[in-house]
Amino acid sequence: MKVLITGGCGFIGANFIHYLLRKRPSFKIINFDLLTYSGNPENLKSVEKHPGYRFVRGDIADKKTVSAIFSERIDAVVNFAAESHVDRSIEDADPFLRTNVIGSQNLMEEARRRKIDRFIHISTDEVYGSIAGRKKFGEDHPMAPSSPYSASKAAADLIARAYFKTYRLPIIITRSSNNYGPYQFPEKFIPLMVTNAFQGKPLPIYGDGLYVRDWLYVEDNCEAILKVLEEGKEGEVYNIGGGCERKNIDVAKKILKITGRDESLLKHVADRPGHDRRYAIDFSKIIKETGWEPAVKFEEGLKRTIAWYRQNETWWRRIISGDYLVARREAYRRFKD
Ligand code: NAD
Repeated sequence: MKVLITGGCGFIGANFIHYLLRKRPSFKIINFDLLTYSGNPENLKSVEKHPGYRFVRGDIADKKTVSAIFSERIDAVVNFAAESHVDRSIEDADPFLRTNVIGSQNLMEEARRRKIDRFIHISTDEVYGSIAGRKKFGEDHPMAPSSPYSASKAAADLIARAYFKTYRLPIIITRSSNNYGPYQFPEKFIPLMVTNAFQGKPLPIYGDGLYVRDWLYVEDNCEAILKVLEEGKEGEVYNIGGGCERKNIDVAKKILKITGRDESLLKHVADRPGHDRRYAIDFSKIIKETGWEPAVKFEEGLKRTIAWYRQNETWWRRIISGDYLVARREAYRRFKD
């Protein structure tokens, strides 16, 4: 099977490519990525020369390059490419609409024209918005996104549904909860807390820190996505959760404990506008239909993640220092053509 993976140089995409090369060695993978600030070719350095792997630099929002990549026969698409950071979407929503909405629709349109066999669209649990109390949202719950990021993801999610209903594009949508694990860009909550703790820097906590997220170890998500790719039903949506709801403040405290730092490093900062209080999804459908279940408990996943960041200090230090930007420019030059 030849799979086009978009956004494969980012956090989940890179983990998925490593996972797929291990689990399905006969697959051919094309990684199509624009290499924005969060797309890091170093995440795939170890597989660059793998015969089943190829990188193509390109923009999903650019119709011409998308069309060119589909000129060879592709069996399936997994669309990870996105602008993914809520805080950045509050600063400037434009790139979010361009990539997440227009870019996703370009891919779906081209996939429809070429009659590809399967299209997995990676959405998010953030499309449901905040949920109070102890309830959990199932796949049929109406969307109520709060940030420009989640609104752009909700728009793409609805376009995906429309492409199934109208054109019968064999599309499946996944909505996962917060992922964590290796290769996550250190502006996101867990890697930011971990790398700051390593450096003895304050850990910034939004507002009262009582925001609740469900945490999913990234390799569990990769396994679920592969299950959906191979066994999911066309036109369906699958929630993918970790079953590990935690308050932000408790996650930060746990990180301080594991890294041997003091809680005096916790620093409450002004809250994010429109901050959703709690995300919680019911993911019984994917369990029922495919037998997939999250395998990694939060405490175990967090220890593994912290160990990975400890062993890969050069990786994250290059990102948080100016060196990363120099490497970015080199990568742009290298893949210009
Ligand atoms: P990321 O920011 O780490 O990676 C995004 C990747 O997309 C980068 O490699 C970037 O270069 C690439 N990209 C951006 N714009 C592009 C464009 N126009 N054309 C081609 N490539 C482009 O994001 P992530 O955390 O790995 O998230 C991947 C997907 O999973 C996103 O769709 C996100 O919405 C979704 N998701 C993420 C989480 C999470 O916790 N990280 C949870 C649920 C859903």
